[in-house]
Amino acid sequence: MKKDFNYYNTLLVQSVGSKVGPIAPTITPSAAFGYEDAQQAEAIFAGEVNAPLYARVGNPTNAKLESVVSQMEGGFGAIATSSGMGAISMVTTAFLKAGDEVLCIGGFFGGTYTLITETMKRFGVNNSFCGVDDIEHIEERLKSGIKMVLMESVGNPSLRLPDIKMIADMCNVYETLLMVDNTATPLLIRPLELGADIVVHSSTKNISGHSAALGGIAVFRAVKENSEKLFNEKYAEVHKIAKKMGSKAFIPICKKRAIRDMGMTANAFGSFLTMLGLETLSLRMERINNSVVRVAKILEEKLPEGVNVNHPSLSSNQDHQMYRRAFKQGCGPLLTLDCGTAQRAFSLLNRLQVAILTANIGDNRTLALHMRSTIYSDFDEDTCRFNGVTDGLIRVSIGLEDPDTIAEDFLQAADHSIKRY
Ligand SMILES: *Cc1c(COP(=O)(O)O)cnc(C)c1O
Repeated sequence: MKKDFNYYNTLLVQSVGSKVGPIAPTITPSAAFGYEDAQQAEAIFAGEVNAPLYARVGNPTNAKLESVVSQMEGGFGAIATSSGMGAISMVTTAFLKAGDEVLCIGGFFGGTYTLITETMKRFGVNNSFCGVDDIEHIEERLKSGIKMVLMESVGNPSLRLPDIKMIADMCNVYETLLMVDNTATPLLIRPLELGADIVVHSSTKNISGHSAALGGIAVFRAVKENSEKLFNEKYAEVHKIAKKMGSKAFIPICKKRAIRDMGMTANAFGSFLTMLGLETLSLRMERINNSVVRVAKILEEKLPEGVNVNHPSLSSNQDHQMYRRAFKQGCGPLLTLDCGTAQRAFSLLNRLQVAILTANIGDNRTLALHMRSTIYSDFDEDTCRFNGVTDGLIRVSIGLEDPDTIAEDFLQAADHSIKRY
């Protein structure tokens, strides 16, 4: 079956609810769960019986969300977390230890950047960063035996598009775990099918869409019986769990080595709200991805000189060929405007009537933010350059409003700012 938006629309609306009994997902807020007898308690703790143990390591509402997102990503299992950063820190702490090295490819969300460069670094995990085109560096680090590669499906806010398939192939040759942050492109890109091992989302963004629930989720492939990279010597510390738990081992590795000890768990109310968003994800992604292309085109034609729009759908964009080849369904809700100076960017933002000024993306509403003075205010010039952040850069996340109305809003604000500065 062709896995287009219609396919996912059917899948998501049918699997979020239930056909018998309550149609909406049920919320189980209990922190603790009674066991049938002592033997069952022993089996639950051993992972031999699949029943709720204690809400820090999972609850039935989270389990429903996990099974739906896992199907959506073509995964074997998933773990819902307290936030997107919760998912990323769960995966990194479950697999990395002092002395290991992680390679980060492309631009990164601010929190992921500081997690790697400050927090993980403080615990002795080394890192290196490179651009999506820097294949030589990628190969050299992979050859040297690094432990994990991190990458975003679309650079935020650089909008650089990595060749996920090629990088995943390289990670498979050198038996190195690849985690892809797919927050910007749920349903548009399926990293596990392209060869990645782990996909993470901030479900706060597109998956929910309504900005009513902070959440994250990590989705895993099955552990293979033969030629499994986890059985490489460099992952020796997880071999015991992997051998015992077989194909589903990614889940107990993350639960026992991160969730149990650090508690970045999702809560039932949040997971319920996230599922309400998930039911309409395919409709929203289709609409928003059509709108982004339309808004970018109108802005490219009509913006005054001094304000430039950037989006991979435009033939002027450096990743336009990659967009046409590997991002056929779109590359998510973001586009950027470069106003040249911060002063002009502020003036444009303050004149907007439709877009909301906030540090979020993937919302049902159109959002805009000046990058250098907010998310990147703590970062030095080099870091900003690496992440594609210039002084006049505004990040826009397109919402469900009428695309012509959105474009009109940015055009009137740009005209105003150009006249003033
Ligand atoms: C927002 C975001 C995160 C972090 O998610 P939270 O839910 O805010 O913790 C991670 N990655 C990307 C690409 C994001 O946009």
